[in-house]
Amino acid sequence: MSQTIGIDLGTTYSCVSYLEGNEPKVIPNLEGMQTTPSVVSFTSSGEKLIGNLALRQAITNPQNTIFAIKRNIKKKFTSREVQEARKKIPYELAEAPNGDVMVQVDSNTISPQEISAMILGYLKKCAETFFGDEVIQAVITVPAHFNDHQRQATKDAAQIAGLEVLRVINEPTAASLAYGLETKKDATIAVYDMGGGTFDITLMEINEGIFHVLGTNGNSYLGGEDFDNRIVSWLIEEFEKENGVDLSDDKLALQRIKEAAEKSKRELSYTLETEINLPFIGSDKSGSKHLKKIITRTKLEELTKDLIQETFLYIDQSLTDANLDADKIDEVILVGGQTRMPLIKELITDFFKKKPIERINPDEIVAMGASIQTAIIKGTLKDLILLLDVTPLSLGIETEKERFVKIIEKNTTTPTKQTMAFTTVEHDQRRVRVHILQGESENIRENISLAVFDLVGIATAPAGVPQIDVTFEIDADGIARVSAKDLTTGREQSIEVRPTSGLTPEEIHSIIRRTREKESE
Ligand code: AMP
Repeated sequence: MSQTIGIDLGTTYSCVSYLEGNEPKVIPNLEGMQTTPSVVSFTSSGEKLIGNLALRQAITNPQNTIFAIKRNIKKKFTSREVQEARKKIPYELAEAPNGDVMVQVDSNTISPQEISAMILGYLKKCAETFFGDEVIQAVITVPAHFNDHQRQATKDAAQIAGLEVLRVINEPTAASLAYGLETKKDATIAVYDMGGGTFDITLMEINEGIFHVLGTNGNSYLGGEDFDNRIVSWLIEEFEKENGVDLSDDKLALQRIKEAAEKSKRELSYTLETEINLPFIGSDKSGSKHLKKIITRTKLEELTKDLIQETFLYIDQSLTDANLDADKIDEVILVGGQTRMPLIKELITDFFKKKPIERINPDEIVAMGASIQTAIIKGTLKDLILLLDVTPLSLGIETEKERFVKIIEKNTTTPTKQTMAFTTVEHDQRRVRVHILQGESENIRENISLAVFDLVGIATAPAGVPQIDVTFEIDADGIARVSAKDLTTGREQSIEVRPTSGLTPEEIHSIIRRTREKESE
């Protein structure tokens, strides 16, 4: 029987785990490391490098080394976040015909799903090498705040990589499964998850093996990368002040500064100051210029404190939504590399009046939870009975004047199903248009459009007579489906709308074909 794995597909690092008996264990990558950089690089000789190999040559090949792709999955090219990111990353982004972001590598445009598939394919290979056996099934984690499109895109990436996704689960939920299995205690917990690209807060109750998510909130565009970018901007400003040279358009210099910034940020979690030293970073008529700068922990905190403070707005909101006070939280679990920053731990301790738990490695806990979920699905783990997750975003439809009506409220336990009856507004109306959106704003323009469909063939009747049942359903993967049925005619007519990742099934299959052909060359 082939093995089943849990995958934490992270923005900066990814991790794979499996269950040995009842104990989650990390599967090392081909180089023996517990986590793998989520980086893909295309060399001038046409080679594709993944993980550490890709990261190692990022400085010499910055334009063709793709990192943090998860931040761009199913993002619109023209969105403010993507346009901001473009100024800071050394590789090129392009616009797909549907408006999504694509990566430009030489003359090829590649979808973020394909890049993610390359990383997943590598992780699959690591697991297969480890087991000496084929690995087909996996549970994959996503940020709790991922919308439907982003979840579907992750599933499509897995399919391209040859993996069958047993379930997509939220990263903080996975973390609390790992925590729950370890402590076996009933508790109300908060999972504070800040990785490279995203921030999530999840409140959860563990009661006799039942894991009940009480609420979740967050921002899929707030993470460690933003901390790095603050240091990068500061270094560029200081360098220009001191040398009169602007480095912001120099891709090679930018990549070197970015790496040094991230390294200094990590070091400042353990020391009070560190030196950034980048010789020959720029030049002018007078010759080469060197960047040499001391950065203190205090400076880093000054540059980034507002990013941490922003996370408390989401925490407040999730507590309000779950009708809980901060002092009702028994434990706070930290997930994601960025939570190693001392100021984050300090502000969390102030807020919850208790120290967060640090004994479970924040880089591995999510993958471990994913492997536990594989056993829950297969029914092989008896200790944990049930996982009740929630939908992070409300689901609803457009009504008159571009208003949004919620049908399934955020933080509703999933899977869930709601049916609403609709009717026609005009005499002899043969068609009803249903526009499905996800989000919290009353204005549809501020929400995410999932799908539009027309229910056609309604029997002629006066306005208000036909009865059309529209059913909204969110499955255990957190993915929504909507179907409609015309009850008046007695003729059953239902339409199912699935979110798309932007790639059609044909495109996914053609990518799989192309990948296989390349591999067999
Ligand atoms: P993850 O997505 O969980 O792998 O988190 C990666 C993020 O954590 C990156 O932005 C890293 O720079 C950041 N990170 C990793 N280690 C540390 C550390 N010791 N101090 C601060 N940030 C860190």
